[in-house]
Amino acid sequence: MEFPIYKSNQLMREQMEGEFYNSEFADLISELIDRDELESSIEIGIAKKVRDEGTEGLSEKQSYHLQKIFDRYNDIRCSVCDDLIPLSEVLFLEGSMCSYHQHQWNKD
Ligand SMILES: [Zn+2]
Repeated sequence: MEFPIYKSNQLMREQMEGEFYNSEFADLISELIDRDELESSIEIGIAKKVRDEGTEGLSEKQSYHLQKIFDRYNDIRCSVCDDLIPLSEVLFLEGSMCSYHQHQWNKD
């Protein structure tokens, strides 16, 4: 899956329209910066540009690095049901389960 293309100034309008995918991606990038989870100064530089401006207008090289960052988080699946873990949850996983199965697990 490729990272979404958007400008940061369109996120607010999208949220008002109930469209959250780009915002979730933007939140993931901000969270990675805050947590210092990026692997190089190149990645940090690109993540900060994306946080401030969005992903539209990145150079080919910047897109390549951003895709590498995204690939680490965009295909994580629940170990029980194999459902894709949404971007809004991947950084808050306790194990490798979706929120439903994590809840079931905690309950038992
Ligand atoms: Zn599950």
